[in-house]
Amino acid sequence: QTLQREKQPHDLNDTFKELFHVVPGNGDPLLERKSVGCRRCAVVGNSGNLRESWYGPHIDSHDFVLRMNKAPTTGFEADVGSKTTHHFVYPESFRELAENVSMVLVPFKTLDLEWVVSATTTGTISHTYVPVPSKIKVKKDQILIYHPAFIKYVFDSWLQGHGRYPSTGILSVIFSLHVCDEVDLYGFGADSRGNWHHYWENNPSAGAFRKTGVHDGDFESNVTTTLASIHKIRIFKGR
Ligand code: C5P
Repeated sequence: QTLQREKQPHDLNDTFKELFHVVPGNGDPLLERKSVGCRRCAVVGNSGNLRESWYGPHIDSHDFVLRMNKAPTTGFEADVGSKTTHHFVYPESFRELAENVSMVLVPFKTLDLEWVVSATTTGTISHTYVPVPSKIKVKKDQILIYHPAFIKYVFDSWLQGHGRYPSTGILSVIFSLHVCDEVDLYGFGADSRGNWHHYWENNPSAGAFRKTGVHDGDFESNVTTTLASIHKIRIFKGR
């Protein structure tokens, strides 16, 4: 509850009650185990290393394609693909999603959970620490909530307390390890100066998180590299 500052956080249990009244939070194909066979997931980070990678068709060939934050696909299909099944966001990183894409809300504060309720109903919350969309078009039954205890698990067990809190990227990777049979990573990797540049930005240092800010980019990258070295995941490094 203290990952991101908030003036007067509401009671968390009350917030959950209200939230799951609005958002059913079940029935998602990623959380169900109906299909037989190998479930292949592509986790697509936002790194500039995707540029001219020509990974698009490769990414789209997965059963599930997980993207995050501001990630666009329009105009970048050849490199990043066009399929998205799940999009991980928090209020400040939200972008409108195409129909049939499940939104996975990653809560970094109590207000983020309240925002989901507000953004799908009354639209009263339009500002957190920055302006946020007051209304979103995503259907309520296509919204999933990343469990706050799972954020803590990733922080304690995987990051061993490195950084202020885990990035959306590493949270998506560890989540995928738990629900997919095969995990392929694309778009992970800082630039030579350790900054998280984005594939859609021409100015490579335009990112909000200079030198990955509150996140320990180097440690997170060590975790994924280690997982790849013992063949638990594959990392496609791009250019
Ligand atoms: O910058 P943003 O947080 O939107 O990027 C999503 C995720 O992609 C990050 O949390 C990080 O894990 C990964 N990323 C990366 N290298 C970059 C940009 C992003 O590993 N250059």
